[in-house]
Amino acid sequence: MELIIGKNSGFCFGVKRAVDGIENDCKTYGKIKCLGEIVHNETVVESLEGKGVTFVDSIDDVNDNDILAIRAHGVEKDIYDIARSKNLKIRDYTCPKVVKIHEQIKEAQESGYDIILIGKKSHPEVIGSKSYAKKVYLIEEIEEIESLPELGKVFSIVQTTFSMKKYKEIKEKLKLKYNNIEFVDSICLSTKSRQEECAQIASKVEFMIIIGGKNSSNTKKLYEVACLNCENCIIIQDEYDKKIEECKKYGIIGIMSGASTPINTIQKVADRICNLN
Ligand code: SF4
Repeated sequence: MELIIGKNSGFCFGVKRAVDGIENDCKTYGKIKCLGEIVHNETVVESLEGKGVTFVDSIDDVNDNDILAIRAHGVEKDIYDIARSKNLKIRDYTCPKVVKIHEQIKEAQESGYDIILIGKKSHPEVIGSKSYAKKVYLIEEIEEIESLPELGKVFSIVQTTFSMKKYKEIKEKLKLKYNNIEFVDSICLSTKSRQEECAQIASKVEFMIIIGGKNSSNTKKLYEVACLNCENCIIIQDEYDKKIEECKKYGIIGIMSGASTPINTIQKVADRICNLN
């Protein structure tokens, strides 16, 4: 059996920075609150809980003077004001690439642009980014473009982990609708490389395995990319998934992971596959 593991598997830069930072903070401060899951990966979340992190859904669940960690996806703008009013110590691990999107949205608003944000509406990064301007038109599906109104000069920006294929289609349709539109192609290089490599590997293997958290949006997109290029694909969270046994039927197997999957999970999946035979 031949196993091809994507070189772009494992944590992306932003997730590694956040996870390492919070682990260090646990050693320094002991107890930390984190707003929302640090990353969409249960293994990582459970490991950090064991080190002193409590994940909360609302800033209301953070007590005055607590230490508050902000995850790589970022949060809404007003969370910082509430955190300051509660005298929280903020450990901000918003990925610099997401911070740049916040800044570009603010600048576009100040310069009088109408803003279109392309992304998954329920994704924390998109919810956070949207809060950086008073009015943002949010587009997740190409069909939604038809319901957009006539706009002045338009500024368009995209979620860092959005599907490249879907973004290209939406971008082309927006160009047809608006003459005066500027695009910032803000899909992260880590996302692009991962999706491109996933497509390459999937096109030459018999069976493709995507590893990632069940709520991870970028993992689901990788799975979609894999399915376009390989007839037999599965998506799993870790080495315990029974679907791995399907590998027995195939000779060449590919593996790619989402941006929030630790490298040791990938290694454990690879070991389990090797031990099947
Ligand atoms: S995918 Fe890119 S933008 Fe998102 S956290 Fe990772 S490095 Fe940052």
